[in-house]
Amino acid sequence: MATLTIDPRISHSTADFVTAGHKLYIDGKFLSAASGKTFPVYNPATGEVITHVPEAESEDVNRAVSAARRAFDSGPWPRLSASERGRILWRVADLIEQHLEEFAELESLDNGKPYTIARIADVPLTVDIFRYMAGWTTKIAGKTFPISFPGDFHSYTLREPIGVVAQIIPWNFPLLMAAWKLAPALACGCTVVIKLAEQTPLSGLKLAQIFDEAGLPPGVVNILTGYGEGAGAPLAAHNDVDKVAFTGSTEVGKLILKAAAGNLKKVTLELGGKSPAIVFPDARIDHAIQGTASAIFFNHGQCCCAGSRLFVHEKIYDQVVEGVSKVAGSIKVAPGLDPSSQMGPLVSDEQYRKVLGYIESGIHDGARVTAGGAKTSDHGYFVQPTVLTNTHPGMKVVDEEIFGPVVCATPFSDADIEAILKQANDTIYGLAASVWTENLSIAHKVSRGLRAGTVWVNCHNVFDAALPFGGYKQSGWGREMGEEVLNNYLETKAVTMAL
Ligand code: ADP
Repeated sequence: MATLTIDPRISHSTADFVTAGHKLYIDGKFLSAASGKTFPVYNPATGEVITHVPEAESEDVNRAVSAARRAFDSGPWPRLSASERGRILWRVADLIEQHLEEFAELESLDNGKPYTIARIADVPLTVDIFRYMAGWTTKIAGKTFPISFPGDFHSYTLREPIGVVAQIIPWNFPLLMAAWKLAPALACGCTVVIKLAEQTPLSGLKLAQIFDEAGLPPGVVNILTGYGEGAGAPLAAHNDVDKVAFTGSTEVGKLILKAAAGNLKKVTLELGGKSPAIVFPDARIDHAIQGTASAIFFNHGQCCCAGSRLFVHEKIYDQVVEGVSKVAGSIKVAPGLDPSSQMGPLVSDEQYRKVLGYIESGIHDGARVTAGGAKTSDHGYFVQPTVLTNTHPGMKVVDEEIFGPVVCATPFSDADIEAILKQANDTIYGLAASVWTENLSIAHKVSRGLRAGTVWVNCHNVFDAALPFGGYKQSGWGREMGEEVLNNYLETKAVTMAL
C-alpha cells in the first residue's frame, strides 16, 4: 500500500493509484513511452512532485494513431449495433460513478480545485455526458429528400463516423474536458487518440482503466500523456488522423489549425474568452452580486467562460462592486482537499506567475484594487480572489484572457442598450455572457445582441449535456455537447438511386 505522504486526506485507493507506475493506454494495452521518458506531476497546493507519468512523443503518437486507424478501418466499434455502443457508453458512466470519490480526489490533488466541488460538479457532469451520448447512439440518422432532378430517384443521407479523431484537452476540468470530447466521438462510432494536459494527467489515466473494464475494443480509445510540442503537435499534424478537436488557448488553437492543414483534417476548436456579465439597475442586487462573483471565482477563474468583465449600471455600481469585493474577501482559499476550501491553488507555477503578472500590470496601468490583489502565501500557487476597478479597454487586464480569479469592473451610464452591447462585444472573443435584469424585454434584447455562443440570464456557468457550448469569433469553431456536437464527429453522405 502506498504511503499517504502525498496528502493524508486522500483515500488509500487514490494514493495507491497516484503512486503506481503510470502507463500510456494504446491499443488496449498499458505501455511505457517508447523512449522510456517520464515527466513529473505536481500538487499545486504544495508545489511538490507527487508522481511521474510517461512522456509520449512522435513514436508513441504513431503507435496510438495506427491502433485507432486499425480499430476504425477493421475493428468492431464502428460496426457495432447502435444500441450495443450505447450500452458500453452507459457502462462507462456507471463505472465512473462507482469511482466518484476517487475521481474527485484525483481532480483535487492534480488540478487544485476543491474536492467538494469536483464531487458535485466535475464528476457528475462527466457521468451525465456519457449517459446523454449513450442515448444519442440510437438516434443518429439521415433524411430522405424529394429531389426535383428530371427522372425518378430515391435520395437519402447517411450520417457516418468521421474516422480517427485526435483530441487535445486542457487542465481546467481534466476529467470533464476528456468526457466532453470522448463521449460524442464514441457515440458516433469514431476511434480516438486523446492527449491529456501535461499539468493534470491523473484522472484521464484513471479513465483508461474504466474504458478497459467497460469492454471497449482495443484501439478505440488511446490515451497519451505528454507535452504540447512533443505529443500534441505531432498528433494534430498526423496524416492518418481525420479530425482534430482541441480545447485550450486561442494561441495554440491557431497552431492546431496550421498543423491540420497538411491533410486538411477537419478541425473544431473551443478556445478562450473574456466574457461580460452585465448588471442592469433593476436586477435583484443580492442575487446579481452572488451570481457575478461566482461567475468569475468559480474554478478559480480558470474557466474559458469566466465572467471576467463586469459591467454595472452606474446607479448600482458602488453597491455591486462593494458586494462582489465582500464576497471575494470572504472566500476561503485553501488546499482543495481541505473540506472547508472554497477556492484552491491555481493549477501550476506558470499559471500562478502569469495571473500575478496580470494583476501587477493592471495596477501599473491605473487599476484600483477593491479586493485581493496578491498571493495568499509563499507555499503553493494560491492567489486571492481579486476585483479591479478603474479599468478600461486598452489595458491588458481588460483585453486579454487572464484565466484566474480576477474581475475588471466598469460602470455604464447609458440606458441605450446598443451602447452597452457595443462595450460588451468589444473583444476578440465570443464564448459566453450573462445578463442580470428583471426586465424581460432587456433580457431578450441583450441576449439577442450579444455576440457569444452562450448567454445566461440571471445565472452564469450553468452547463448541461443537452446544451450546445462553444464560441463566436476567436473563441472557436463548432460546439461541444448537445445534439450539435455530433456534427463534429459525423460525415454526411448523400445517396441517390435512379429507380
Ligand atoms: P493553457 O495555456 O491553458 O495551458 P494550452 O492551449 O497551452 O492551454 O494547452 C491546451 C492543450 O494543448 C494541452 O494539452 C497542451 O499540451 C496542448 N498544446 C500546447 N501546445 C500545443 C501545440 N503546439 N500543438 C498541439 N497541442 C498543444
